[in-house]
Amino acid sequence: MVWHPTGLFIHISNPAQISNRVLSQCCPSVEWIGDFDDHAQQYRWGSVPTSHISLNPEHPFPLARAINDFLEQNQYAPGQALLITDQEKDLIDAVWCHVRVVFVGSSITGETFPDAWCPNVAALTTWPQHQFVGELRSEDWHSKGGLLIRELRPANYSANAILWGTGRYFAKNDPRSDIHLLTKRLLLLKSWRQGVIDPALIHIMRDSLAIIEHNSPPFTMITAIPPKPRSPDRLGTLLRQAFPEDTRVHTSLIHITRPMEKQSQLGRTARKDNVADAYRLSASSLGGQRILVVDDIVTTGATLSVVAMQLEQCGADVTCLALAVDQHSDSESTRRLPCPSNSCDGHMVIKLNRASFRPFWGCTNYARGCNKTLDYRSGINGYLQLFPSSAIIKDWDLPF
Ligand SMILES: [Zn+2]
Repeated sequence: MVWHPTGLFIHISNPAQISNRVLSQCCPSVEWIGDFDDHAQQYRWGSVPTSHISLNPEHPFPLARAINDFLEQNQYAPGQALLITDQEKDLIDAVWCHVRVVFVGSSITGETFPDAWCPNVAALTTWPQHQFVGELRSEDWHSKGGLLIRELRPANYSANAILWGTGRYFAKNDPRSDIHLLTKRLLLLKSWRQGVIDPALIHIMRDSLAIIEHNSPPFTMITAIPPKPRSPDRLGTLLRQAFPEDTRVHTSLIHITRPMEKQSQLGRTARKDNVADAYRLSASSLGGQRILVVDDIVTTGATLSVVAMQLEQCGADVTCLALAVDQHSDSESTRRLPCPSNSCDGHMVIKLNRASFRPFWGCTNYARGCNKTLDYRSGINGYLQLFPSSAIIKDWDLPF
């Protein structure tokens, strides 16, 4: 079920390290291989020798520009392309042109994360297992493997506690938010009021705890950021359903002291002020406790930071886990997958079945009588084909 690029395969940065054998094992469906000639500052494309694309160093995103030119010339959609790089600066370009990206390296210092993260070139042969556990389980909760985003340091996060992430979150203005299942599942969780929690999120919680505890002593308490006043306790319910017999789950350790503005509507500094003194603990001494604190989406890290520092001041050894890390990307998407029914002017969007939590595509005119649906995979393929690469970076060509 895990996503694979359908046709094109791009790799750059030290191509000499990556043999053709490794490349064909990474992605058996590969049709073409392109690589970057450091010497000539130029791309070479295996089966299209005439198609040379040079980097324009004056362009703000030279790599993205080059990739887009190539995709456009060869009529590929960005979602079909995979970029492998060992240069962290390439991640931002890749996000901008919406190609999938695998990062080869030991650490990332910025806030933009790849689709998968391989420690070394040899691990590329199993790169789908190096996708983030939250994203893997969002697509297929029986899948194996997966990793956490390591040791995050968002802008407003100043606690000592290590912060992990199970995957990425794409806001509405990023085209990938439409097809990113972890994003969809978290949005559905935000509107949850009662009943069963999405089993994908339950598997993500269990796997994440196992990954963290694999290399460190077990926690003595597992808790979550509390809900806003008069909201249902979604994260607490998630923990209780994920670990029903586990006496370490304490969902009433942290309380909210006063009403707060919605963090998502505030800037960085305002977010920090908004959560200062907003929480109190139901215990005053937590010496000797090892506590895991769970939150849904981490953006600037202000909320988790405030809570982790309060727990640390009471003597606890704290670790934080975010279900997803906001990628802060913003590029307006106007694409719509049209409804396959000729007589309908609606478009198809991913929905999650509220009983089975399985994804499918349904028509936006459902309320007006169109019950057209598509299975998840064919919808994704249709959607990826829709995206003309020329539409992506037009804005960059404005003089500035
Ligand atoms: Zn329709």
